Amino acid sequence: MKDDDQNFMREALKVATSEGSDPATSPIGCVIVMHGQIVAAERNRVDHDHDATAHAEISAIRAAGHASGNADLRGAVLYSTLQPCGMCMMASIWAKVGRVVYGAGRGDVHRIYFEDRHIDTLDFIRDAYRDDISVAGGVLRDDCAALYYRPWDHPPKSEQGNI
Ligand SMILES: [Zn+2]
Repeated sequence: MKDDDQNFMREALKVATSEGSDPATSPIGCVIVMHGQIVAAERNRVDHDHDATAHAEISAIRAAGHASGNADLRGAVLYSTLQPCGMCMMASIWAKVGRVVYGAGRGDVHRIYFEDRHIDTLDFIRDAYRDDISVAGGVLRDDCAALYYRPWDHPPKSEQGNI
């Protein structure tokens, strides 16, 4: 399972960096795997689509639903290069994915990637009514974290979508 996780995270990294790896472009990638096959692979498209909800995970959940003809993605594994934000973690719960796997975690990156000062989005999984969803982080952590502003960086205010 661990080998699979790394392989699929490498695919998420490929999608994330398909248009470059400048942190200013928020190169976040997500793949969704069902029955061992990638059914969706999406990059962050917020700026491209002029859509604040066009996070990689949201786009991938939409694409996986279209691909499978079902909004219920039970049994699917969602891989994201960055710990999903609140919107995307909640969407994962609603989409009924079985497992969320991420690379860089909240502590590895600048606060601009999260919307809440204190609530860790992992708490959404821990506190969910569903008990058939799990989460694992830190897969290819260093490769993933290298794509983003780090805690000690000073990204320009214009790039801080959470303020
Ligand atoms: Zn998100």
